[in-house]
Amino acid sequence: MNAPQRQLSDPVRYVKGVGPAREVLLGRLGITSAEDLLFYFPRRYEDRRNVTPLASLRAGEPASALARVVALERRRTARKNLSIVTALLTDGKAMAKAVWFNRPGIERLLQSGVLVALYGRVEVRGGAVQFTNPEYEVLDEAEENAPAIVPVYPTTAGLAQKPLRRVIRTALDEFLPLLDDHLPDDIARRLALPELRRSVTELHFPTGREEWRTARRRLAFDEFFLLQTGLAMRRHRAGAAAATAPSLKRGALVDAYLERYLPFTLTGDQKKVTEEIFADMAGTIPMNRLLQGDVGSGKTVVAVLALLAALDGGHQGAFLAPTEILAKQHYDRIQPVFEALGVPCVLLVGSLPQKEKRAVHEGLESGAVSVAIGTHALLSEEVSFARLGLAIVDEQHRFGVLQKRAFRSKGESPHVLVMTATPIPRTLTLTVFGDLSVSVLSELPPGRKEVRTTALSPKKLPSLLAFLKERMEAGERVFWICPLIEESETMDLAAATARYEDLAKTFPAFGVGLLHGRMVAAEKDRVMGEFQSGHLSLLVSTSVVEVGVDVPQATVMVVEDATRFGLSQLHQLRGRVGRGDRESHCVLLASPTTPEARERVKAFCSTSSGFLIAEADLKLRGPGEVCGVRQSGITDFRVADLIRDRELLDIARREGFALVERDPDLASEPLLRARLFASLGRSLSLVETA
Ligand code: ADP
Ligand code: MG
Repeated sequence: MNAPQRQLSDPVRYVKGVGPAREVLLGRLGITSAEDLLFYFPRRYEDRRNVTPLASLRAGEPASALARVVALERRRTARKNLSIVTALLTDGKAMAKAVWFNRPGIERLLQSGVLVALYGRVEVRGGAVQFTNPEYEVLDEAEENAPAIVPVYPTTAGLAQKPLRRVIRTALDEFLPLLDDHLPDDIARRLALPELRRSVTELHFPTGREEWRTARRRLAFDEFFLLQTGLAMRRHRAGAAAATAPSLKRGALVDAYLERYLPFTLTGDQKKVTEEIFADMAGTIPMNRLLQGDVGSGKTVVAVLALLAALDGGHQGAFLAPTEILAKQHYDRIQPVFEALGVPCVLLVGSLPQKEKRAVHEGLESGAVSVAIGTHALLSEEVSFARLGLAIVDEQHRFGVLQKRAFRSKGESPHVLVMTATPIPRTLTLTVFGDLSVSVLSELPPGRKEVRTTALSPKKLPSLLAFLKERMEAGERVFWICPLIEESETMDLAAATARYEDLAKTFPAFGVGLLHGRMVAAEKDRVMGEFQSGHLSLLVSTSVVEVGVDVPQATVMVVEDATRFGLSQLHQLRGRVGRGDRESHCVLLASPTTPEARERVKAFCSTSSGFLIAEADLKLRGPGEVCGVRQSGITDFRVADLIRDRELLDIARREGFALVERDPDLASEPLLRARLFASLGRSLSLVETA
């Protein structure tokens, strides 16, 4: 009888040493196939060739040590009901203690005489060095004689390091030979990347620091390279499959706007970016471009110019915004200019009465109306355009993939421009948005004053209130953002309402208003309008004003409980002030309790660059949070790190895109192709073509 053919995709229970119970535990770690085990990499390593002698342990640093248990004691404290296990240890030259709190069963393992590897923080207590709650592992005598660099895996209750390590070792023996190297030879050679199997083994069981480093580089490169090759393929296919887009050339409307209606001169960046967009729109491959710019960098003017170019080209344009407040603001600004230029322009939002909505629908369908500015209402099935040539999405992170797709489908391959609210770190631009063309506005319009940002303990509230009074007496306006309590909109609202009532009592001489997510659109508009006109001097709000409203007289932004917000979100809030010519302030009311929170607040106060803040946010909160939405699977790297490996990402992008340029369907690289489809086919929506 033939032995059954092994495959990498075999269920993990086919690996020797994995029974039903372990299969369940491994499942909890996300490991279901033999291949998953091969790519389940350590969290850290213990270099047991080079452990710290007990005599050299220093307080404050984490250390690893090898020692034998001399004696063990277990106590229970009456007061806090803690169970404390203390082990007395020796390495033959010195003694040390290890203490564990509430670890039932530990005494059974640590009997006197056994050899243990320890890793953890060292403290000095009563003159003696001690490990407090260290990680530990009981070693065989054989391991003492063959010290090695030992992997430590992330694991789950019930699965100890030692059996997990053994299972992975077995999987490497049995299944690694099946793993063929998919990396094109010329690339591996050029970049001096080691072979795949070798690299996987080395990452689990390193033979040395240098060897480990090159192996890690190889595997991190792999992840970036697969993604970039996939993105390149997606971009290539989209270009090849797309019907021809209308070639829209700028003309009389753009010229008239620039000459007669633009109230300022464009910044250098605005000019450059507009040219990039015009060049795309003049071609017949549908534009798919991301416009990034810091808050206040002037993305709207660029959008207006693009809309006018679409009209010059004889097509319609649509501008999608995430909220009614914002759509209305865009409309109020744009409509008068368009009217002067003789361009029929409408606002389409959910709160519009049925009858008016129907009139708008008819105008767009017949082509009598040239431009629609609106919210999700634009995506409704009832909306169709006679000849939509350009679709613009403002604050694109507030819309899902499907919504963007629905918008695009309102025309026959229209050009598409998506805009961000704040900048995105370059590494994310290259991954999450890796198949879009990118334009960046990094320059702010001239004359902007930097917003002075300070963190204030809530205890200092009285002095803040005095300051606000002064500003309002000088005719300035104040935003006050209330804490965002994620679990409960009702609690958000309660907190905001209480704050509003407080402040209204504190400032009887000034108009104080409240804005929150539960209000109907018309009410929001009314309150916002009163703040814009100066009828209200202080606006208390939940974070719905986060989106780009523009009130030049607003000079103070107070953010309550600021540590609850992400840095990019705070930056977006701060961007609501500093839009006029007066000195502006952003005050974070916060009492950060952890060192990390203090660090975050400090970082935020000390920079005004959205790009730097986005980088910091990426470091602190990870890629999913920075873009506002979790991106399905694309940035879940096992080895690669978007911060640490950024040059590797550039190289991988170059190589991936060059390869697809030469060989769009990867016909010459079947292994790479198979691996790519297996790992990213779904998240990139790449489908096999026969
Ligand atoms: P964002 O990029 O945040 O959407 P906006 O488009 O709302 O920024 O522009 C912010 C403010 O800057 C607006 O009041 C706008 O009129 C003004 N602005 C834009 N471009 C310029 C420029 N080149 N010179 C002066 N002011 C400008
Ligand atoms: Mg904007």
